[in-house]
Amino acid sequence: VDTPAPTKTTSSAPTDSTTAAINTEESNGADPNVRRVVCKRCHEMNHHHRIAPNWHRDVADDPEVLEFMKSKPSALVLHVLDVYDLQGSLLKGLSNFIGHQHRVILVVNKVDLLPKDVHLPRVATYVQRMMKDSGVLNIVAMHVVSARKVHGVRELCADLMALRRRFTQSPPDIYMVGRANVGKSELINAMLRISYGGTQYKVTTFPIPGTTCDVVEIPLQRFRKALVPYTPGEAQRAGGEVIDPGTLYDTPGVFNNYSLAKYLKPDELKLTWPKPHLSVSTYGLKCGQSLCIGGLGRIDLQEGGDAATGRIMVSVFSNLPVHITQTKKANAMFNRLAAGELVPDLHPPGRTMTPARAAVLPRLKFVSSHTLANENATMACADVYFMGVGWVAIAGRFKHAVIQVHSLGGRGAGIRPPLM
Ligand code: GDP
Repeated sequence: VDTPAPTKTTSSAPTDSTTAAINTEESNGADPNVRRVVCKRCHEMNHHHRIAPNWHRDVADDPEVLEFMKSKPSALVLHVLDVYDLQGSLLKGLSNFIGHQHRVILVVNKVDLLPKDVHLPRVATYVQRMMKDSGVLNIVAMHVVSARKVHGVRELCADLMALRRRFTQSPPDIYMVGRANVGKSELINAMLRISYGGTQYKVTTFPIPGTTCDVVEIPLQRFRKALVPYTPGEAQRAGGEVIDPGTLYDTPGVFNNYSLAKYLKPDELKLTWPKPHLSVSTYGLKCGQSLCIGGLGRIDLQEGGDAATGRIMVSVFSNLPVHITQTKKANAMFNRLAAGELVPDLHPPGRTMTPARAAVLPRLKFVSSHTLANENATMACADVYFMGVGWVAIAGRFKHAVIQVHSLGGRGAGIRPPLM
């Protein structure tokens, strides 16, 4: 957390090796005497765009990340999901860590990435349906937001404030949980921006998973206008400002070991990051053809398609390169990739492929086979998702189509009802 220091030259003492070098920076906040104190790791990310992703932590290896919530059973839990990676950002084990007394607020973040004409209440209903099967108890509210554009964040804060007000004796703490990279830190910054109108308090955000390395505790008093549930009348009666004793805990993201993004190098991952919008491209896929998505996944149309053209329509919501070819040729291309050869049509990761890199990448494997029908040509009938790197919507008018889904290692891909 960027900590305000009382004078222009002061800085707080580092607490561990990662904070060995402290950098003080001019803040954008209103108070010119406030200096941001930034740890070395955050400085590297903000100024040199450097950080090594760590994909090897998962909730199973690292239960203490969520385990500590058990000690605060009345806390509010903000479960943040990424609309770009809904399946990949679901915390399946969350119900093992929270009990009946926790109240869960679902936050679907990054909706600014979706095309402008998307009906957001439909996205909310979609996620609610998806969560029904996940076994998470006590979902009391659901918000569709963009932390980056500060869209929907005021409404979320108002809801949190109202929930905290119900506990007049001691308003509960808030736990922010979610997979790495869903935008938890960005959401905290958006809430701070609402509280202060400036950016003098800020947590570091970065496009590569693993930005937050430990639980960050932020006194809720910092969010005074946004989350502190005391009215000016109450403050006056108490003879001034009422200090909120609560804490917001920003937890380190839980890594998703199934995410296909883990096979990309940091610079490749940055290339695929949707900026500023998710790119959407539509193709016709003929029977016997395959759609390759960046050397990480593939969809084969095995049978069926439109009676007249023999095609299905596929809309790719991803920044990975897309290549359509005969399934036989696609097999040969993936074999060349596995042998460490550079296959330009599949880059990245092919762009920097070497035999050494190929040796550690898993082979393309079959995930699942699906029979689809779509009488309503204007709507997609299914999405094929590739965790961490996007999805493909299948549309077009056809009575019958058989598709096969493949991914590196045979994991992190599957089919879901259409999001749009
Ligand atoms: P955390 O690991 O959950 O704390 O994720 P961060 O807050 O570090 O965000 C990960 C990446 O997602 C960063 O590059 C953010 O700028 C980006 N991000 C976060 N929220 C949004 C959002 O609402 N819209 C978009 N487009 N990007 C976002």
